Amino acid sequence: MSSAKPRVIVLGAGLGGVIAAFEIKSALGEKADVTVVTRGETFHFVPSNPWVAVRWRERNDIEVSLPKVFGKRDIEFVSVGAKKVQPKDNRLELEDGRTLLYDYLVVATGPELAFDEIEGLGPFGGFTQSVCHVDHAEKAADAFDKLAAAPGPIVVGAVQGASCFGPAYEFAFILDTELRRRKVRDKVPMTFVTSEPYIGHLGLDGVGDTKGLLESELRNRHIKWITNARVTSVEDGEMHVEEVADDGSVKSAQSLPFAFSMMLPAFRGVDAVMGVEGLANPRGFILVDKNQRNPAYPNIFGLGVCVAIPPVGKTPVPVGVPKTGFMIETMVTAISRNLKDLIDGKEATHEATWNAICLADFGDGGVAFVAQPQIPPRNVNWSSSGKWVHVAKVGFEKYFLKRVRTGKAAPFYEKLALDIMGIGKLKS
Ligand SMILES: Cc1cc2nc3c(=O)[nH]c(=O)nc-3n(C[C@H](O)[C@H](O)[C@H](O)COP(=O)(O)OP(=O)(O)OC[C@H]3O[C@@H](n4cnc5c(N)ncnc54)[C@H](O)[C@@H]3O)c2cc1C
Repeated sequence: MSSAKPRVIVLGAGLGGVIAAFEIKSALGEKADVTVVTRGETFHFVPSNPWVAVRWRERNDIEVSLPKVFGKRDIEFVSVGAKKVQPKDNRLELEDGRTLLYDYLVVATGPELAFDEIEGLGPFGGFTQSVCHVDHAEKAADAFDKLAAAPGPIVVGAVQGASCFGPAYEFAFILDTELRRRKVRDKVPMTFVTSEPYIGHLGLDGVGDTKGLLESELRNRHIKWITNARVTSVEDGEMHVEEVADDGSVKSAQSLPFAFSMMLPAFRGVDAVMGVEGLANPRGFILVDKNQRNPAYPNIFGLGVCVAIPPVGKTPVPVGVPKTGFMIETMVTAISRNLKDLIDGKEATHEATWNAICLADFGDGGVAFVAQPQIPPRNVNWSSSGKWVHVAKVGFEKYFLKRVRTGKAAPFYEKLALDIMGIGKLKS
């Protein structure tokens, strides 16, 4: 240990890291110092980005300034990116040349967005929009305004290797809703392009009847689709797509013209951990055991999208497993309990359930699912749709942002509600 009081560093203050810092501080109290290291001073609520891209939200609505929030909770805050994790020396090299030492490190750096893997993909230097970051969503909103003023075809979806499909469906339906509100939907042919083997697979081999629900929603809204799709390149206004057969051969090749396109990219790990042997897999995702600990460096925990999870099965086009918000919260609880036990001189035994509760909003309705656990086979495999999903998603946004602004670990009524529904965060 590097000091009398152990130091826990949480690296990355996104959806997972912020909640982890609160919950860890609440579990450890005065037994440890907690530091958050993240690039920039602002938290963004990523699930609201699709709303920013059609101007249902402004950037300010979904941002929280972090220094004050952490200050109030006695959590040290460093708003500088990490250049490299040096696990052999328990050291974090920062982008400004400083070095921080830790006793325990929680890596919650989310994804690096791999736009560069497909020529012409992405909002900066490419021709497609994105909703992965609020900066991208703001740029997408400008492009969407132009489309509404001069309507033309839309191509929306997720490319090969993507692991985040819910927001692609969500955004397709949100675009449809907003185009109808602007009374130009009749002038906009829409195509959903996805690497999934079937509609509603979601990287999870479906949940309940997501196949039926989402196919029917696409049909009702006159959105055509292409599955098993591999995007080979994108030019200004044209996407080149191959449809892949079960044996991996190319079934057909198509060029899709577009006036507006949003394609979710594949994810990989961030530079700070990429290539660190034993810590990350070849794609840069953090290797973890059932207690969220890295096997080679057990004082390091992995949390959120940066964690390595193998695909649920073989698919003609590579498809990753999503890491959704509630699943991430189950990891947070396991990590905070394990840290407490380790600091108290006990073994780390807590396992996250990786249960998933997801709400995909369409603006005028939506699809919800509960998967316990998220990876099949499951004990609970349920999906449903209706107007209530939109209301629930707005409630979730308000609730989560309030939690971040007030710096609270999960309040008692959240636990009570989850207990009543039988949705636990921990296996043990
Ligand atoms: C558009 C979109 C919509 C989504 N909607 C939902 C939804 O409705 N429901 C749901 O359950 N899930 C949703 N998800 C999935 C998931 O909940 C989010 O991706 C979530 O933000 C992941 O949290 P995270 O903490 O793992 O990563 P992030 O939220 O991406 O946070 C990572 C943080 O680490 C920081 N960071 C990165 N590298 C460094 C570095 N080197 N040094 C310091 N800091 C660094 C980043 O700046 C960022 O602040 C959505 C995902 C996307 C992309």
